[in-house]
Amino acid sequence: MPTPAAVDMKSTDNKLDKIVEQARRDREKREQGYREQALKMFPHICGRCTREFHRANLHELTVHHRDHNHDNNPPDGSNWELLCVYCHDNEHQRQLEAQNGATATTKKSTSAATHNPFDKLKDMLKGKE
Ligand SMILES: [Zn+2]
Ligand SMILES: [Zn+2]
Repeated sequence: MPTPAAVDMKSTDNKLDKIVEQARRDREKREQGYREQALKMFPHICGRCTREFHRANLHELTVHHRDHNHDNNPPDGSNWELLCVYCHDNEHQRQLEAQNGATATTKKSTSAATHNPFDKLKDMLKGKE
């Protein structure tokens, strides 16, 4: 027999779970929305490694937000970039390193110095060739 207090606590938990679940579903729906649009708009090729994608492996092609703001989804696709899961991971890893680089005092001070804004520009230029 649960005490009334325990029941209350449980219902509060459930409510929170539902809110979290709802938010997660909303986000997934939105992500599917822009993913579909981006896949219609761009060729199914990774913008970094230029790997081509077909129906069988299309789930490995993801939509990256150039400004890292997932809420910024202009309908012309200017903030989207199709990247395979590996390059996408890489891209975010670089972003994290760039963020942490300012505070973290690691042995990697030399490699951190190579993390300049022009790296990305170079990559972009390379990708266009
Ligand atoms: Zn790739
Ligand atoms: Zn991304």
